[in-house]
Amino acid sequence: MSISKNLQEIKDSLNAGVTLVAVSKTKPNESIEEAYGIGHHDFGENKVQELCDKYEALPKAIKWHLIGHLQTNKVKYIAPFVHLIHAVDSRKLTKEIQKRAGQNERTIDILVQVRIAKEETKFGLPYEEASDLLSALNAGEFPNVRVIGLMGMATNTENQEQIKEEFTGLKSFFHKQQKLNPNLTALSMGMSGDYQLAVECGSNMVRVGSAIFGARNYN
Ligand SMILES: *Cc1c(COP(=O)(O)O)cnc(C)c1O
Repeated sequence: MSISKNLQEIKDSLNAGVTLVAVSKTKPNESIEEAYGIGHHDFGENKVQELCDKYEALPKAIKWHLIGHLQTNKVKYIAPFVHLIHAVDSRKLTKEIQKRAGQNERTIDILVQVRIAKEETKFGLPYEEASDLLSALNAGEFPNVRVIGLMGMATNTENQEQIKEEFTGLKSFFHKQQKLNPNLTALSMGMSGDYQLAVECGSNMVRVGSAIFGARNYN
C-alpha cells in the first residue's frame, strides 16, 4: 500500500466533519510531499526541531499541528507559523504561548490536553485542572491564545470498553465546556489504532500516523 492510497482510504472513510491530521513524525519530506500531492494539508509532528525543519523545506500551504508535549522554552520556534497546538497542559505553557503569539502579532489556536488515560502518564490535565485553565482562557487572561477545543489520549490497551469509556468521558466534558465557550469546536481524539472508535465516541479530529505512513523506525 502506498501513502497516498492509505491516506485516501482513511479520508474516504471519515465523514466531512472530521479533520484528519496526518502524523508525519520521523517520516521524510518525500512522504509528506506524497500526501500533500493528493491535496492533504494538515500534518502533525511531535518534536519542535523536526517541525521547524519540515516547515522550512515544505510548501507553506501546509497547516502544521504540534501534537506532542511542548516545552515552554521551545514555543518561540513554532510561534510564527504553527496552525494548532494540541497538547497544552499548563498555565505556564499557556502564558508562554501568549507571550510569543503577541510578539508575532498573531493569535495562536490551542487545544487543552486532558488526562483521560488510566495508565501512568505525565501529560494532560486532570478534568478539574483542565476546567480551571479553560476558565482562565474564557475570561480573556490570554488574549492572543484562542482555545478551540480539547485533546485526549486513551490508555494504550486492547480493552475496547476501557478506551470507549475514556473517550466518552472526554466527549461529555467537551459538551459541558462548549456551553461555557461556543468557540470550542475541536475534539482531538483517536490515533491509528483507535480513531474509528474515537469518532464513534464524538471525536472530530483524529491524529493518524502509522496507518498512513507505515510503522515508524526510531533508529
Ligand atoms: C505519534 C502520535 C500519534 C499518531 O500515532 P499512530 O499510532 O502512528 O497513529 C497521535 N497522537 C500523538 C500525540 C502522537 O504522538
